[in-house]
Amino acid sequence: MKKIKLLVASLTISLMASVFVGCGNKSANGAYEGQADGKHGAIKVQVQVDNNNIKDIKVIETNENEVLSEPVFTKLKNTMVCNNSSNVDAISGSTETSKGYINAVQDALKKAGVKIEGNKKYSVEHMKEEKTEQEYDVVVIGSGGAGFGAALEAKNAGSSVVILEKMPSIGGNTLISGAEMNAPNNWVQKKLGINDSIEKYYEDTVKGGDNKGVPNMIKELANNAENAAEWLKDFVNVEFIEDQLFQFGGHSVKRALIPKGHTGEEMMTKYKLKADEMQIPVKLETEVTDLIVEDGRVTGVKAKNTAGQDLTFKAKNGVIIATGGFGSNVEMRKKYNPEYDEKYMTTDTPGTTGDGIVMAEKAGAKLMNMEYIQTYPICNPKTGVISLVADSRFDGAILVNQEGNRFVEELQRRDVISKAILNQTNKCGYVLWNDDIENISKTINTHKDEYAMLEKQGLLHKADTLEDAAKFFNIDESQLKKTVEKVNTFAKNGKDEDFNHRGKLVSLEKGPYYIEKAVPSIHHTMGGIVIDEKSRVLDVNNKVIPGLYAAGEVTGVIHGTNRLGGNAITDITVFGRVAGESASNKE
Ligand code: ADP
Repeated sequence: MKKIKLLVASLTISLMASVFVGCGNKSANGAYEGQADGKHGAIKVQVQVDNNNIKDIKVIETNENEVLSEPVFTKLKNTMVCNNSSNVDAISGSTETSKGYINAVQDALKKAGVKIEGNKKYSVEHMKEEKTEQEYDVVVIGSGGAGFGAALEAKNAGSSVVILEKMPSIGGNTLISGAEMNAPNNWVQKKLGINDSIEKYYEDTVKGGDNKGVPNMIKELANNAENAAEWLKDFVNVEFIEDQLFQFGGHSVKRALIPKGHTGEEMMTKYKLKADEMQIPVKLETEVTDLIVEDGRVTGVKAKNTAGQDLTFKAKNGVIIATGGFGSNVEMRKKYNPEYDEKYMTTDTPGTTGDGIVMAEKAGAKLMNMEYIQTYPICNPKTGVISLVADSRFDGAILVNQEGNRFVEELQRRDVISKAILNQTNKCGYVLWNDDIENISKTINTHKDEYAMLEKQGLLHKADTLEDAAKFFNIDESQLKKTVEKVNTFAKNGKDEDFNHRGKLVSLEKGPYYIEKAVPSIHHTMGGIVIDEKSRVLDVNNKVIPGLYAAGEVTGVIHGTNRLGGNAITDITVFGRVAGESASNKE
């Protein structure tokens, strides 16, 4: 999420002086500012009006995710300018961002004192494909990390390649994730003097998923993780933080690389830039509906776009499914595990609906571990969105309940913490930390927008004292103090006698404190398509389905019952790359 600030304020004031409102037929000229809330807070626009015509719209301040929102803003602007109306439909999949933009423009027009549009509502026009049938060597479905990794490697191997994406913008869950990536023996570990090994990482991952992952595939993951991280850094140009690593729950050492900005925005922006440089077309709002199977071989896909065209993309060598999981598809969640019904919100993007799994199964693919669905323990109780500010937990923040007690080891696996939270009063937990922890994790400074949003929603509070922290959320004050005193002693002695914290507890003697309310929300679906070490899709008899490959969250072989933090990016990068290479060598 990036702030765009243009130095237009003074210009606006002078132009606004030229507004004149006539009687009856009002006329306005000049620049007007308007503001409304989008998904991540205020969107501020400047609308240039010329004789009652909308001439131009500029976004002058926004906290929306830049990669996601830029195409949305551009499309809405073009539709408004073209039709001289702000009465425009929101873009599906980006409804809140669209509404924020539309309302901000309408706010500006209101300030101009003129009603430019009539009652007609306009839809955003979509680009039409010149050819409804196209042919490539490799067709990639989905534009998250797995899809881009696959496409880049397919192109590197000499294939012509296209990426098809059903949403109006790229990125999928990869974009909105923290995007940390586990890689044993990585360059930051070496700098920090942390001892790790491929074997340790393999064991942590197998154990983290309760032995339900496929061992030889986890070996593949562990063996190729470091190389995949180097490739992201050196080929895709992803910038990682050079002096900090995360130790997510279930890992025996700090091994997760952190991308600049602590979100997937850095990764997806760099992927898109690289794909542009390599001339890989990305077709947005193009939903793949079917795989084409001829004589037992997958030879392409059927798709439809929002311009209403039915399209065929032939694949000379192979089709790669990289459509992500099914966290946003409540019916599908209930089909495979009735526990995960409507009572759960989700951290996922709306495109995460399991399409690739359904299409692959129809083509004979084997599925596994479909019942294992992961909740992320620390999410916004109002929206279900994952909280990255609370990543302070990885550096010593504690979790307490309404009664002021700790109730779980803070670096336990996500499923264990989630279940523990749901067993507490009000089915929620509170993350508590101070500046001694914040100075290590720097999460507030990194996620300023989320911090401001949580404060505004009354879900995060900065308190000078523990009394104040407890009062804000109606937590038992004296018990909270006792809990913190114990934590301070454990921190001093280097041993957590209550929950055996595997990282480091930090003394919470000094305020100010940060306290945040959190609930679990659906985050990752571990199950999916069965692939082999070449990312080839297997059928129910474990035979390769010719022409079909898959990578990323859509597959079900790595994570078993529970994905460890930082393992999604490793999974999508390692097997996305393998899929791109394999699909380029027609078998
Ligand atoms: P991964 O982490 O495995 O790369 P992501 O969730 O990041 O998965 O990305 C998956 C992408 O696939 C999302 O952008 C999603 O919108 C897209 N997608 C899902 N189903 C389809 C479909 N039927 N056609 C085209 N794109 C799809």
